[in-house]
Amino acid sequence: MTNLLERLAARLGPKGFTTDPDLIAPHLKEWRGRYEGRTPCLVSPASTEEAADAVRLCAQAGASITPQGGNTGLVGGQIPDGEVLVSMRRMNAIRSIDAANDSLIAEAGVILSAVQQAAADSDRLFPLSLASEGSATIGGLISTNAGGVHVLRYGMMRELVLGIEAVLPDGSIFHGLKSLRKDNTGYDLKQLFIGAEGTLGLVTAASLKLSPARARGRRR
Ligand SMILES: Cc1cc2nc3c(=O)[nH]c(=O)nc-3n(C[C@H](O)[C@H](O)[C@H](O)COP(=O)(O)OP(=O)(O)OC[C@H]3O[C@@H](n4cnc5c(N)ncnc54)[C@H](O)[C@@H]3O)c2cc1C
Repeated sequence: MTNLLERLAARLGPKGFTTDPDLIAPHLKEWRGRYEGRTPCLVSPASTEEAADAVRLCAQAGASITPQGGNTGLVGGQIPDGEVLVSMRRMNAIRSIDAANDSLIAEAGVILSAVQQAAADSDRLFPLSLASEGSATIGGLISTNAGGVHVLRYGMMRELVLGIEAVLPDGSIFHGLKSLRKDNTGYDLKQLFIGAEGTLGLVTAASLKLSPARARGRRR
């Protein structure tokens, strides 16, 4: 384990790696206090390449990983029990928005409300909405197949994802960031990651489906 921690520290630097208990503490508690965890370190990659290298180093050392987004999950899946904790919060860029195609590409650590705002700024709607939208991240929402208050009209997260980029357990990268609506090629592998709670890989970015903005004002 010492060897692994040294390698992770060397690859990720001080912003991306810590063993400081004070910095790690907030990540080990579920907000209602129902789950409390432990971890040897907190890894916070800032890019897909850093995430891939961190996962590869853990795989080579035989160390397990618990991914974490906004830590708003209610079933404790984001709380480590001795695993290396990988927080995706530093991967928080909206890489692109294509209003004409009604699509947006966001990194896993982007907060849901930021995606909603980016869509609104382009006169579009990202319809997923839930009470934790000021903290929950795109990676967490995908990994839990989140629902929210607009499910009946727009569907769950599963129906709002056009493509996914993910780091697989050996550290290789799954490049599935498609924004194509009519995609009938092969297996729909992105669906495996949706609702998988991080068991099949680390989601690093997603292409999301936008809708036309809702009309403002009252209907007559
Ligand atoms: C007030 C409140 C209201 C809520 N309302 C709803 C609701 O209406 N509908 C609903 O579905 N949920 C709801 N939730 C639950 C929670 O907000 C969702 O499950 C949300 O999707 C979790 O996102 P997160 O970023 O906080 O993920 P986390 O809690 O950090 O993680 C959740 C799971 O996803 C995994 N994970 C996180 N990021 C990644 C990643 N990048 N790659 C792979 N795995 C990852 C974690 O390991 C864990 O298993 C609510 C929670 C709160 C506190």
